Amino acid sequence: MPQFKTRNVIVHELTHFWQQLSFQSFENMKIEFIEGHAEYIAWLHDKDEQLKAVVQRKSEDKSHPYGTGFQKFKQLQIPFSKLFNKSYMQKVHNKYF
Ligand SMILES: [Zn+2]
Repeated sequence: MPQFKTRNVIVHELTHFWQQLSFQSFENMKIEFIEGHAEYIAWLHDKDEQLKAVVQRKSEDKSHPYGTGFQKFKQLQIPFSKLFNKSYMQKVHNKYF
């Protein structure tokens, strides 16, 4: 796997790790939120325009929670400092997903 893709996958999966520590269970969480959050964080983190384009294309798939969730996160324009704030993100989940 090319290095730029590896970094993207690691950031995506670390976001899931944070979600699990923060929300304990994914049982009451929408898949669109879980995957959209991870995709959005990985997308923000990535400096590589080539990869940004790949994620962007994947996100245009409206039939997949990765895509629809990512699009929602992009539209919400949540300040970076809030993206790992547990209570703020719980409110985002409950209000928009
Ligand atoms: Zn994921």
